[in-house]
Amino acid sequence: MSTTVGSLRDRVEAIVSGHQARWVHLADRIWEHAEVGLHEYRSARLQVEELEAHGFRVESGAGGMPTAFVATYRRGDGTPAIGFLGEYDALPGLSQARSPERRPLKEGAPGHGCGHNLLGTAAMGAAVAVRYLLEEFDLPGTVRYFGCPAEETLVGKVFMARDGCFDGLDACLTWHPASLNMVWDGPSLAMNSVKFRFRGRASHAAADPHHGRSALDAVELMNVGVNYLREHMPPDARIHYVITRGGAEPNVVPAEAEAWYYVRAPGRDETEELYQRVLDCAAGAALMTGTTFETEFLAACYNTLINHTLNEVLHRALEAVGPPAFDDTDHEFARRLSESVPPAQKAAALRAAKAPADLFDKVLHDRVDRPFDPGRIGHGSTDVGDVSWIVPTAQLGTACVPLGTPGHSWQFTAAAGSGIGHKGMLTAAKAMAVAGLELLTDTTLLEKARAEFLAATEGQGYRSPLPEGAKPPVHQLEPDG
Ligand SMILES: [Zn+2]
Ligand SMILES: [Zn+2]
Repeated sequence: MSTTVGSLRDRVEAIVSGHQARWVHLADRIWEHAEVGLHEYRSARLQVEELEAHGFRVESGAGGMPTAFVATYRRGDGTPAIGFLGEYDALPGLSQARSPERRPLKEGAPGHGCGHNLLGTAAMGAAVAVRYLLEEFDLPGTVRYFGCPAEETLVGKVFMARDGCFDGLDACLTWHPASLNMVWDGPSLAMNSVKFRFRGRASHAAADPHHGRSALDAVELMNVGVNYLREHMPPDARIHYVITRGGAEPNVVPAEAEAWYYVRAPGRDETEELYQRVLDCAAGAALMTGTTFETEFLAACYNTLINHTLNEVLHRALEAVGPPAFDDTDHEFARRLSESVPPAQKAAALRAAKAPADLFDKVLHDRVDRPFDPGRIGHGSTDVGDVSWIVPTAQLGTACVPLGTPGHSWQFTAAAGSGIGHKGMLTAAKAMAVAGLELLTDTTLLEKARAEFLAATEGQGYRSPLPEGAKPPVHQLEPDG
Protein backbone atom coordinates (compact mmCIF):
# COMPACT_ATOMS: atom_id res chain seq x y z
CA MET A 1 0.00 0.00 0.00
CA SER A 2 1.43 3.37 -0.90
CA THR A 3 -0.06 5.85 1.51
CA THR A 4 1.64 9.03 2.60
CA VAL A 5 1.13 10.40 6.09
CA GLY A 6 -0.66 13.32 4.44
CA SER A 7 -3.25 11.25 2.57
CA LEU A 8 -3.72 9.08 5.64
CA ARG A 9 -4.35 12.21 7.66
CA ASP A 10 -7.07 13.27 5.22
CA ARG A 11 -8.84 9.90 5.54
CA VAL A 12 -8.57 10.01 9.34
CA GLU A 13 -9.92 13.59 9.36
CA ALA A 14 -12.91 12.42 7.34
CA ILE A 15 -13.64 9.44 9.61
CA VAL A 16 -13.22 11.37 12.86
CA SER A 17 -15.28 14.32 11.57
CA GLY A 18 -18.10 11.90 10.82
CA HIS A 19 -18.17 10.74 14.46
CA GLN A 20 -16.95 13.74 16.40
CA ALA A 21 -20.34 14.99 17.60
CA ARG A 22 -21.04 11.57 19.15
CA TRP A 23 -17.61 11.35 20.74
CA VAL A 24 -17.76 14.85 22.21
CA HIS A 25 -21.16 13.90 23.67
CA LEU A 26 -19.68 10.66 25.05
CA ALA A 27 -16.74 12.50 26.67
CA ASP A 28 -19.18 14.99 28.20
CA ARG A 29 -21.38 12.27 29.65
CA ILE A 30 -18.35 10.59 31.25
CA TRP A 31 -17.29 14.04 32.53
CA GLU A 32 -20.75 14.61 34.05
CA HIS A 33 -20.96 11.16 35.68
CA ALA A 34 -17.35 11.45 36.98
CA GLU A 35 -16.89 8.03 38.60
CA VAL A 36 -13.78 7.25 40.68
CA GLY A 37 -11.54 4.21 40.11
CA LEU A 38 -13.29 0.80 40.00
CA HIS A 39 -16.67 2.55 40.23
CA GLU A 40 -16.68 3.50 36.54
CA TYR A 41 -19.70 1.34 35.66
CA ARG A 42 -21.55 3.94 33.57
CA SER A 43 -18.40 5.31 31.93
CA ALA A 44 -17.24 1.84 30.90
CA ARG A 45 -20.72 0.91 29.66
CA LEU A 46 -20.91 4.03 27.46
CA GLN A 47 -17.60 3.07 25.85
CA VAL A 48 -18.56 -0.59 25.42
CA GLU A 49 -21.84 0.37 23.71
CA GLU A 50 -20.01 2.65 21.28
CA LEU A 51 -17.34 0.03 20.46
CA GLU A 52 -19.95 -2.68 19.91
CA ALA A 53 -21.81 -0.35 17.57
CA HIS A 54 -18.63 -0.22 15.48
CA GLY A 55 -18.26 -4.00 15.33
CA PHE A 56 -15.75 -4.56 18.11
CA ARG A 57 -16.02 -7.76 20.15
CA VAL A 58 -15.89 -6.85 23.84
CA GLU A 59 -14.70 -8.98 26.75
CA SER A 60 -15.58 -7.49 30.12
CA GLY A 61 -14.07 -8.13 33.53
CA ALA A 62 -10.43 -7.97 32.37
CA GLY A 63 -7.93 -8.48 35.20
CA GLY A 64 -10.76 -9.41 37.57
CA MET A 65 -12.27 -5.90 37.54
CA PRO A 66 -15.91 -5.39 36.46
CA THR A 67 -15.12 -1.96 34.91
CA ALA A 68 -12.19 -3.22 32.83
CA PHE A 69 -12.63 -4.57 29.31
CA VAL A 70 -10.83 -5.41 26.09
CA ALA A 71 -12.45 -4.59 22.72
CA THR A 72 -11.09 -6.30 19.60
CA TYR A 73 -11.53 -5.83 15.87
CA ARG A 74 -9.76 -8.33 13.63
CA ARG A 75 -9.32 -8.70 9.86
CA GLY A 76 -7.60 -11.35 7.77
CA ASP A 77 -4.99 -13.31 9.70
CA GLY A 78 -5.14 -10.69 12.47
CA THR A 79 -1.51 -9.58 12.21
CA PRO A 80 0.02 -7.25 13.08
CA ALA A 81 -1.76 -6.24 16.30
CA ILE A 82 -1.89 -2.79 17.76
CA GLY A 83 -3.39 -1.57 21.03
CA PHE A 84 -4.82 1.71 22.31
CA LEU A 85 -5.00 2.35 26.06
CA GLY A 86 -7.97 4.24 27.50
CA GLU A 87 -8.88 5.43 31.00
CA TYR A 88 -12.09 6.93 32.43
CA ASP A 89 -11.68 7.29 36.20
CA ALA A 90 -12.28 10.61 37.97
CA LEU A 91 -10.72 12.11 41.11
CA PRO A 92 -12.48 12.62 44.45
CA GLY A 93 -13.42 16.17 45.43
CA LEU A 94 -12.71 17.79 42.05
CA SER A 95 -16.29 18.38 40.89
CA GLN A 96 -16.40 21.63 38.93
CA ALA A 97 -18.77 23.36 36.52
CA ARG A 98 -17.69 24.52 33.05
CA SER A 99 -16.84 27.84 34.63
CA PRO A 100 -13.65 29.92 34.94
CA GLU A 101 -14.45 30.38 38.64
CA ARG A 102 -14.29 27.68 41.29
CA ARG A 103 -17.84 26.33 41.35
CA PRO A 104 -18.38 22.64 42.12
CA LEU A 105 -21.27 20.97 40.29
CA LYS A 106 -21.78 19.09 43.53
CA GLU A 107 -19.77 19.97 46.64
CA GLY A 108 -17.22 17.24 47.50
CA ALA A 109 -18.16 15.04 44.51
CA PRO A 110 -15.61 13.56 42.08
CA GLY A 111 -14.52 15.42 38.95
CA HIS A 112 -12.36 14.82 35.90
CA GLY A 113 -9.37 16.79 37.17
CA CYS A 114 -7.00 14.57 35.15
CA GLY A 115 -9.13 14.68 31.98
CA HIS A 116 -9.65 10.92 31.72
CA ASN A 117 -13.09 11.54 30.17
CA LEU A 118 -11.09 12.79 27.18
CA LEU A 119 -8.33 10.17 27.50
CA GLY A 120 -10.61 7.16 27.11
CA THR A 121 -12.74 8.72 24.42
CA ALA A 122 -9.82 9.73 22.18
CA ALA A 123 -8.10 6.34 22.51
CA MET A 124 -11.41 4.65 21.67
CA GLY A 125 -11.88 7.03 18.74
CA ALA A 126 -8.41 6.19 17.41
CA ALA A 127 -9.19 2.46 17.62
CA VAL A 128 -12.49 2.97 15.77
CA ALA A 129 -10.84 5.10 13.07
CA VAL A 130 -8.10 2.50 12.50
CA ARG A 131 -10.74 -0.22 12.29
CA TYR A 132 -12.49 1.63 9.41
CA LEU A 133 -9.16 2.27 7.67
CA LEU A 134 -8.29 -1.45 7.78
CA GLU A 135 -11.63 -2.17 6.15
CA GLU A 136 -11.30 0.61 3.60
CA PHE A 137 -7.80 -0.46 2.51
CA ASP A 138 -8.65 -4.17 2.90
CA LEU A 139 -5.70 -4.82 5.20
CA PRO A 140 -5.13 -7.61 7.72
CA GLY A 141 -4.56 -6.72 11.35
CA THR A 142 -5.94 -6.54 14.86
CA VAL A 143 -7.00 -3.38 16.67
CA ARG A 144 -7.51 -3.63 20.42
CA TYR A 145 -8.89 -0.98 22.69
CA PHE A 146 -8.21 -1.50 26.40
CA GLY A 147 -10.72 -0.04 28.82
CA CYS A 148 -8.42 0.44 31.83
CA PRO A 149 -10.07 1.47 35.10
CA ALA A 150 -8.53 3.03 38.21
CA GLU A 151 -5.39 4.63 36.77
CA GLU A 152 -5.26 7.17 39.58
CA THR A 153 -4.71 4.42 42.16
CA LEU A 154 -2.34 2.52 39.82
CA VAL A 155 -4.56 -0.53 39.81
CA GLY A 156 -6.17 -1.10 36.40
CA LYS A 157 -3.34 -1.87 33.96
CA VAL A 158 -1.20 -3.56 36.62
CA PHE A 159 -3.82 -6.26 37.21
CA MET A 160 -4.64 -6.46 33.49
CA ALA A 161 -0.91 -6.85 32.77
CA ARG A 162 -0.53 -9.61 35.35
CA ASP A 163 -3.38 -11.48 33.69
CA GLY A 164 -1.78 -11.24 30.26
CA CYS A 165 -4.26 -8.78 28.68
CA PHE A 166 -1.50 -6.94 26.78
CA ASP A 167 0.26 -10.04 25.47
CA GLY A 168 0.49 -10.59 21.73
CA LEU A 169 0.57 -6.92 20.69
CA ASP A 170 3.16 -5.46 18.33
CA ALA A 171 2.80 -1.89 19.59
CA CYS A 172 0.66 0.12 21.95
CA LEU A 173 -0.28 3.80 21.80
CA THR A 174 -1.86 6.13 24.28
CA TRP A 175 -1.95 9.78 25.27
CA HIS A 176 -2.80 12.10 28.13
CA PRO A 177 -4.60 15.45 28.20
CA ALA A 178 -1.94 18.10 28.76
CA SER A 179 -1.12 21.75 28.07
CA LEU A 180 1.42 20.97 25.33
CA ASN A 181 1.13 19.26 21.94
CA MET A 182 4.08 16.87 21.98
CA VAL A 183 5.12 13.26 22.41
CA TRP A 184 6.26 12.23 25.88
CA ASP A 185 9.84 11.09 25.97
CA GLY A 186 10.60 11.34 29.69
CA PRO A 187 10.17 8.22 31.83
CA SER A 188 7.93 8.17 34.92
CA LEU A 189 8.92 6.48 38.19
CA ALA A 190 8.19 2.94 39.34
CA MET A 191 6.26 2.84 42.60
CA ASN A 192 5.03 0.79 45.57
CA SER A 193 1.92 1.89 47.48
CA VAL A 194 1.84 0.28 50.94
CA LYS A 195 0.07 0.81 54.27
CA PHE A 196 1.98 0.21 57.52
CA ARG A 197 -0.29 -0.77 60.40
CA PHE A 198 1.21 -0.72 63.90
CA ARG A 199 -0.31 -2.42 66.93
CA GLY A 200 0.56 -1.56 70.56
CA ARG A 201 -1.35 -1.58 73.83
CA ALA A 202 -3.95 0.93 74.95
CA SER A 203 -3.83 2.49 78.41
CA HIS A 204 -4.95 5.62 80.24
CA ALA A 205 -2.56 8.25 78.96
CA ALA A 206 -2.42 10.11 82.29
CA ALA A 207 -3.14 7.51 84.97
CA ASP A 208 -1.36 4.52 83.47
CA PRO A 209 0.94 5.58 80.60
CA HIS A 210 3.73 3.16 81.50
CA HIS A 211 1.50 0.20 80.69
CA GLY A 212 0.71 1.56 77.23
CA ARG A 213 2.66 0.93 74.03
CA SER A 214 1.83 3.62 71.54
CA ALA A 215 1.24 2.61 67.93
CA LEU A 216 1.20 6.32 67.09
CA ASP A 217 4.74 6.68 68.50
CA ALA A 218 5.76 3.91 66.11
CA VAL A 219 4.22 5.69 63.14
CA GLU A 220 5.95 8.94 64.11
CA LEU A 221 9.33 7.28 64.62
CA MET A 222 9.01 5.40 61.35
CA ASN A 223 8.33 8.70 59.60
CA VAL A 224 11.31 10.35 61.31
CA GLY A 225 13.50 7.45 60.23
CA VAL A 226 12.31 7.70 56.64
CA ASN A 227 12.83 11.46 56.65
CA TYR A 228 16.50 10.87 57.60
CA LEU A 229 16.72 8.19 54.92
CA ARG A 230 15.87 10.81 52.27
CA GLU A 231 19.36 12.29 52.24
CA HIS A 232 20.87 8.93 51.36
CA MET A 233 18.56 7.73 48.62
CA PRO A 234 18.91 8.21 44.84
CA PRO A 235 18.17 11.85 43.90
CA ASP A 236 15.30 10.95 41.54
CA ALA A 237 13.59 8.69 44.08
CA ARG A 238 10.56 10.03 45.94
CA ILE A 239 8.91 8.98 49.21
CA HIS A 240 5.71 10.49 50.62
CA TYR A 241 3.26 9.47 53.28
CA VAL A 242 0.09 10.37 55.12
CA ILE A 243 -1.05 9.21 58.54
CA THR A 244 -4.36 7.47 57.95
CA ARG A 245 -5.00 6.49 61.59
CA GLY A 246 -3.44 8.03 64.67
CA GLY A 247 -5.71 7.27 67.59
CA ALA A 248 -9.00 8.73 68.76
CA GLU A 249 -8.40 10.90 71.84
CA PRO A 250 -5.25 12.22 73.54
CA ASN A 251 -6.09 10.53 76.84
CA VAL A 252 -5.92 7.03 75.37
CA VAL A 253 -2.54 5.64 74.34
CA PRO A 254 -3.33 4.56 70.76
CA ALA A 255 -3.23 0.81 70.32
CA GLU A 256 -3.51 1.13 66.54
CA ALA A 257 -2.05 3.57 64.05
CA GLU A 258 -1.37 3.51 60.34
CA ALA A 259 0.70 5.36 57.74
CA TRP A 260 0.27 5.06 53.96
CA TYR A 261 3.44 5.32 51.91
CA TYR A 262 4.30 5.82 48.25
CA VAL A 263 7.87 4.74 47.47
CA ARG A 264 9.07 5.71 43.99
CA ALA A 265 12.34 5.29 42.08
CA PRO A 266 13.49 5.27 38.44
CA GLY A 267 13.37 1.45 38.08
CA ARG A 268 11.67 -1.58 39.65
CA ASP A 269 14.92 -2.87 41.24
CA GLU A 270 15.72 0.52 42.78
CA THR A 271 12.14 0.78 44.05
CA GLU A 272 12.38 -2.66 45.68
CA GLU A 273 15.72 -1.76 47.28
CA LEU A 274 14.39 1.50 48.66
CA TYR A 275 11.20 -0.19 49.84
CA GLN A 276 13.30 -2.69 51.84
CA ARG A 277 14.99 0.26 53.59
CA VAL A 278 11.57 1.77 54.39
CA LEU A 279 10.56 -1.63 55.83
CA ASP A 280 13.69 -1.47 58.01
CA CYS A 281 12.55 1.94 59.32
CA ALA A 282 9.18 0.39 60.22
CA ALA A 283 10.86 -2.56 61.95
CA GLY A 284 13.16 -0.18 63.87
CA ALA A 285 10.20 1.92 64.99
CA ALA A 286 8.35 -1.20 66.17
CA LEU A 287 11.43 -2.30 68.14
CA MET A 288 11.81 1.12 69.75
CA THR A 289 8.19 1.29 70.84
CA GLY A 290 7.46 -2.30 71.78
CA THR A 291 4.81 -2.55 69.06
CA THR A 292 4.30 -4.82 66.08
CA PHE A 293 3.41 -3.98 62.51
CA GLU A 294 2.01 -5.49 59.35
CA THR A 295 1.90 -4.18 55.80
CA GLU A 296 -0.95 -3.95 53.33
CA PHE A 297 0.44 -3.85 49.82
CA LEU A 298 -2.01 -1.76 47.78
CA ALA A 299 -0.42 -1.23 44.38
CA ALA A 300 2.82 -1.15 42.46
CA CYS A 301 3.85 -0.24 38.96
CA TYR A 302 6.80 -0.02 36.61
CA ASN A 303 8.57 3.06 35.30
CA THR A 304 7.67 3.87 31.69
CA LEU A 305 10.09 2.60 29.10
CA ILE A 306 10.44 5.09 26.27
CA ASN A 307 10.40 3.75 22.71
CA HIS A 308 12.03 6.33 20.42
CA THR A 309 10.96 4.54 17.23
CA LEU A 310 7.29 4.77 18.18
CA ASN A 311 7.76 8.30 19.51
CA GLU A 312 9.05 9.36 16.09
CA VAL A 313 6.00 7.82 14.39
CA LEU A 314 3.69 9.59 16.84
CA HIS A 315 5.48 12.90 16.40
CA ARG A 316 5.19 12.68 12.63
CA ALA A 317 1.49 11.90 12.95
CA LEU A 318 0.88 14.76 15.37
CA GLU A 319 2.69 17.18 13.06
CA ALA A 320 0.58 16.01 10.12
CA VAL A 321 -2.65 16.48 12.11
CA GLY A 322 -1.53 19.83 13.55
CA PRO A 323 -2.43 21.52 16.84
CA PRO A 324 -6.06 21.72 18.07
CA ALA A 325 -7.99 24.41 16.17
CA PHE A 326 -9.16 26.55 19.09
CA ASP A 327 -11.79 29.20 18.34
CA ASP A 328 -12.47 32.60 19.97
CA THR A 329 -14.72 31.05 22.64
CA ASP A 330 -11.93 28.61 23.62
CA HIS A 331 -9.36 31.40 23.78
CA GLU A 332 -11.63 33.57 25.92
CA PHE A 333 -12.45 30.70 28.29
CA ALA A 334 -8.76 29.76 28.52
CA ARG A 335 -7.80 33.36 29.28
CA ARG A 336 -10.36 33.64 32.10
CA LEU A 337 -9.49 30.20 33.49
CA SER A 338 -5.76 30.89 33.53
CA GLU A 339 -6.36 34.09 35.52
CA SER A 340 -7.10 31.81 38.49
CA VAL A 341 -3.57 30.36 38.36
CA PRO A 342 -0.96 32.68 39.96
CA PRO A 343 1.45 33.94 37.23
CA ALA A 344 4.45 32.77 39.28
CA GLN A 345 3.02 29.24 39.38
CA LYS A 346 2.49 29.18 35.61
CA ALA A 347 6.02 30.54 35.00
CA ALA A 348 7.52 27.95 37.35
CA ALA A 349 5.71 25.14 35.51
CA LEU A 350 6.95 26.37 32.12
CA ARG A 351 10.48 26.88 33.46
CA ALA A 352 10.50 23.35 34.85
CA ALA A 353 9.42 22.07 31.41
CA LYS A 354 12.25 24.15 29.82
CA ALA A 355 9.64 25.83 27.60
CA PRO A 356 10.91 28.50 25.17
CA ALA A 357 10.41 32.16 26.15
CA ASP A 358 7.53 32.87 23.74
CA LEU A 359 5.24 30.37 25.49
CA PHE A 360 5.32 32.30 28.78
CA ASP A 361 3.00 34.97 27.33
CA LYS A 362 0.65 32.53 25.60
CA VAL A 363 -2.49 31.06 27.09
CA LEU A 364 -2.88 28.02 24.81
CA HIS A 365 -0.18 26.01 23.05
CA ASP A 366 -0.86 26.65 19.38
CA ARG A 367 1.73 24.52 17.59
CA VAL A 368 3.31 21.07 17.75
CA ASP A 369 6.71 20.98 19.46
CA ARG A 370 9.34 18.40 20.12
CA PRO A 371 10.12 17.80 23.83
CA PHE A 372 11.93 20.84 25.25
CA ASP A 373 14.09 18.76 27.58
CA PRO A 374 14.40 15.30 26.01
CA GLY A 375 14.54 12.38 28.41
CA ARG A 376 13.76 14.42 31.52
CA ILE A 377 12.32 12.18 34.26
CA GLY A 378 8.77 12.96 35.27
CA HIS A 379 8.59 12.21 38.98
CA GLY A 380 5.03 10.89 38.95
CA SER A 381 4.00 7.31 38.20
CA THR A 382 1.53 5.73 35.81
CA ASP A 383 0.38 2.17 35.19
CA VAL A 384 1.15 2.74 31.50
CA GLY A 385 4.64 1.83 32.79
CA ASP A 386 3.67 -1.83 33.13
CA VAL A 387 2.36 -1.97 29.56
CA SER A 388 5.58 -0.36 28.29
CA TRP A 389 7.58 -3.32 29.70
CA ILE A 390 5.35 -5.83 27.87
CA VAL A 391 5.02 -4.23 24.43
CA PRO A 392 6.70 -1.23 22.75
CA THR A 393 4.56 1.69 23.90
CA ALA A 394 4.42 5.42 23.21
CA GLN A 395 2.35 8.33 24.50
CA LEU A 396 1.63 11.86 23.42
CA GLY A 397 0.04 14.88 25.01
CA THR A 398 -2.23 17.45 23.38
CA ALA A 399 -3.31 20.87 24.60
CA CYS A 400 -6.57 20.28 26.50
CA VAL A 401 -5.96 22.92 29.19
CA PRO A 402 -4.31 26.37 29.28
CA LEU A 403 -0.53 26.55 29.70
CA GLY A 404 0.46 26.36 33.38
CA THR A 405 -2.75 24.64 34.52
CA PRO A 406 -1.89 22.44 37.52
CA GLY A 407 -2.71 18.74 37.28
CA HIS A 408 -5.52 17.35 39.47
CA SER A 409 -7.09 20.79 39.88
CA TRP A 410 -10.59 22.25 39.45
CA GLN A 411 -9.22 24.27 36.55
CA PHE A 412 -8.28 21.01 34.82
CA THR A 413 -11.80 19.65 35.41
CA ALA A 414 -13.33 22.81 33.92
CA ALA A 415 -11.14 22.67 30.80
CA ALA A 416 -11.71 18.91 30.35
CA GLY A 417 -15.43 19.59 30.07
CA SER A 418 -15.03 22.53 27.68
CA GLY A 419 -14.37 23.10 23.98
CA ILE A 420 -10.63 23.26 24.75
CA GLY A 421 -10.67 19.68 26.03
CA HIS A 422 -12.88 18.50 23.17
CA LYS A 423 -10.54 19.89 20.53
CA GLY A 424 -7.45 18.50 22.24
CA MET A 425 -9.18 15.11 22.45
CA LEU A 426 -10.04 15.02 18.74
CA THR A 427 -6.47 16.02 17.85
CA ALA A 428 -5.16 13.13 19.97
CA ALA A 429 -7.60 10.66 18.40
CA LYS A 430 -6.52 11.68 14.89
CA ALA A 431 -2.77 11.62 15.65
CA MET A 432 -2.99 8.17 17.26
CA ALA A 433 -5.08 6.85 14.36
CA VAL A 434 -2.57 8.11 11.76
CA ALA A 435 0.32 6.62 13.77
CA GLY A 436 -1.60 3.39 14.32
CA LEU A 437 -2.27 2.80 10.66
CA GLU A 438 1.29 3.71 9.72
CA LEU A 439 2.51 1.02 12.12
CA LEU A 440 0.04 -1.56 10.82
CA THR A 441 1.18 -1.00 7.25
CA ASP A 442 4.93 -0.69 7.77
CA THR A 443 6.27 -3.79 9.48
CA THR A 444 9.85 -2.46 9.35
CA LEU A 445 8.77 0.19 11.89
CA LEU A 446 7.31 -2.50 14.15
CA GLU A 447 10.49 -4.57 13.84
CA LYS A 448 12.62 -1.54 14.69
CA ALA A 449 10.41 -0.72 17.68
CA ARG A 450 10.65 -4.36 18.85
CA ALA A 451 14.46 -4.42 18.50
CA GLU A 452 14.73 -1.22 20.54
CA PHE A 453 12.37 -2.68 23.16
CA LEU A 454 14.39 -5.92 23.43
CA ALA A 455 17.66 -4.00 23.78
CA ALA A 456 16.18 -1.77 26.51
CA THR A 457 14.63 -4.62 28.50
CA GLU A 458 17.69 -6.84 27.91
CA GLY A 459 15.28 -9.58 26.91
CA GLN A 460 13.84 -9.81 30.43
CA GLY A 461 10.18 -10.70 30.51
CA TYR A 462 7.68 -8.66 32.50
CA ARG A 463 7.41 -9.74 36.11
CA SER A 464 4.31 -8.43 37.87
CA PRO A 465 5.29 -6.12 40.75
CA LEU A 466 2.24 -7.36 42.67
CA PRO A 467 2.62 -9.81 45.55
CA GLU A 468 1.56 -13.43 44.94
CA GLY A 469 -2.19 -13.86 44.88
CA ALA A 470 -2.95 -10.11 45.06
CA LYS A 471 -6.53 -9.27 44.10
CA PRO A 472 -7.77 -5.98 42.67
CA PRO A 473 -9.39 -3.99 45.51
CA VAL A 474 -12.84 -4.42 43.94
CA HIS A 475 -14.25 -6.35 46.91
CA GLN A 476 -13.80 -3.31 49.14
CA LEU A 477 -16.23 -1.40 46.96
CA GLU A 478 -19.12 -3.79 46.61
CA PRO A 479 -21.89 -2.90 49.05
CA ASP A 480 -22.47 -6.56 50.02
CA GLY A 481 -18.86 -7.70 49.77
ZN1 LIG B 1 -4.11 11.84 37.39
ZN1 LIG C 1 -4.24 11.09 34.35
